[in-house]
Amino acid sequence: MAWRQRFQAAALAGLLPALGLAADGKPATDKDFTAYAQPVIAFTHATVVDGTGGKAAHDQTLVIDHGRIAALGKSSKVKPPEGATVIDAQGKTLLPGFVMVHEHMFYPAGGAEYNEMSYSFPRLYLAGGDTTVRTAGSMMPYADLNVRDAIARGTVIGPDMDVTGPYLNGPGLPIPAVHALGGPDDAERTVNYWSDEGVTSYKAYMQITRDELKRAIDTAHARKAKVTAHLCSVTYREAVELGIDNLEHGFFVSTDFVKDKQPDRCPANADVRQSLADLDPASPEVASLIRLMVQRHVALTSTLTVFETFVAGRPKAPAGALALMLPEVRAQYEASWSRAQAGKSGYSAETYAKLARLEKQYADAGGLLLAGTDPTGYGGVVPGFASKREIELLVEAGFRFEQAVQVATLNGARYLGRDGEVGTLAVGKRADVVVIDGDPLKDVAAMERMPLVFKNGVGYDTRKIFDAMHDSVGLH
Ligand SMILES: [Zn+2]
Repeated sequence: MAWRQRFQAAALAGLLPALGLAADGKPATDKDFTAYAQPVIAFTHATVVDGTGGKAAHDQTLVIDHGRIAALGKSSKVKPPEGATVIDAQGKTLLPGFVMVHEHMFYPAGGAEYNEMSYSFPRLYLAGGDTTVRTAGSMMPYADLNVRDAIARGTVIGPDMDVTGPYLNGPGLPIPAVHALGGPDDAERTVNYWSDEGVTSYKAYMQITRDELKRAIDTAHARKAKVTAHLCSVTYREAVELGIDNLEHGFFVSTDFVKDKQPDRCPANADVRQSLADLDPASPEVASLIRLMVQRHVALTSTLTVFETFVAGRPKAPAGALALMLPEVRAQYEASWSRAQAGKSGYSAETYAKLARLEKQYADAGGLLLAGTDPTGYGGVVPGFASKREIELLVEAGFRFEQAVQVATLNGARYLGRDGEVGTLAVGKRADVVVIDGDPLKDVAAMERMPLVFKNGVGYDTRKIFDAMHDSVGLH
C-alpha cells in the first residue's frame, strides 16, 4: 500500500501513532525523531559505564557541549553549566554509543536474495544504540557508500560507517549479487577498484583460495584498508599467517579442527559442525590457535546474535522487532524459526554455549574481541534490537556487564582506529551516549529499555524511530 492509502486506512482505524506519522499527519521525517538538540545538555545523578571495562560509577554528571563531552564526574563536584538543559538521570545508566563491526545494509528476503535496506537500517541501527558501524560485506556497495556519505553530510540520520566492499569469494556461492573471483589477479583488481570508489575495508568469504586471500590482503594493506573474513576453505591459522586483520563469527566457522581438511576447499557443513561439537576448549590445538591470533594482533568478531537464531530453544525475535518486518517477511521468519526449533540445521545448545565461552577465553588471553550482530541468517537479527541482544549474550557467555560494553564500544573503536574520537565516555570525546532506563548491571534485560540515543550531542527518540519503521524491514 502506498503511504497515502495506508494513512487513510489507518486514520479510519485510529492507528496514526503506530504508523509513525508526525503531529501534522505527514509521515515522520528524520527531524521528527530529534528529542534534544540544545547545545549544552547535562545528565545528573546517572550511573555511568564508560566503555573502558572499568567498574560502573554512580551518581555522575555528564555535560555535553556542542557535540562533545565537556565534563564527567561525581554529581556533588560537577555542576551543570549556566543555561544547560538538565536531564535528571536518576535511575538511568549511560553507555558510550556502540561501535559494531559486523553489520550489513542488506537483509535476507528469502532464497538467495538480499534486499538493500538503505532507508530503514541506518535509522534502526541508530535507534538500537549504534553510533558507529563497520559493514561486513556488501551486496550493493554504491548504496552503502552513498548512505555513508549522506550520514556524514547530515542529510540522513544513522551511525558513522566504515564501508566494506563486495564479498571476496570464488565460484560456488549461489547469490546472484556476488562476483566470483577468478584468481589472485582478479582479487587485486577488485580490491583496487573498490578502493578507488572509497571502500575502506574488505571481507573474504567462504570459498576463496589462499592465493586469492593473500593477494587481497596485500593489496588492501597497500591501500590502507583492513581485511576480515568469514572463512571456510581457508583455516583461521592459514589466514592469520597470510596477514589478515580480523576473523568473523567467533570460532563458529573455523575449519581448523576438521580431520583431513583439503587445502583451499570448504569441507562439508556437517563435518565442520561435528568438529566443533567435538572440540575441547582446553586442548593444546585451541590454545595454540588463540596464542597465534593474539601474537599477530588478529581481532575476532563475536556475532552470537545470528548463531542464536539457529539454536533450538532460544527466544524468538522480540515483538518490537517483528513489528518492523514487512508482513510477508515476518511470515517467512516465523516459519523458519519454527523449523529451527526442531534443532536439525543449527548448533546444539551445548556447542553454542561452548563456542560462546571460547570467545571469552580468547579475550582473556589478550585478544581484541569485537562485537557485531550480522542481520542475515533467516531474518531473526533485526537492527535496532540486535545490538542490545549481543551485549546480553556476551554477559550470558561470562563477561561482566562492563566488559561486554567494552567489547561493543572501545574495542570496535580501537580496531577501526577511531578510539581518539569515540568508544568511551570521556571528556573531549564525541558525545555519543546511549541512555538506558534502569540498571543493566543488576539485570541485563534493562538494555531493552533505551529511550534515547545521542550522536554528536543530538538526542534521538528511539520510540519515534521504531514507530516510523513498522513494516519496512525486508522492503527498503
Ligand atoms: Zn555477515
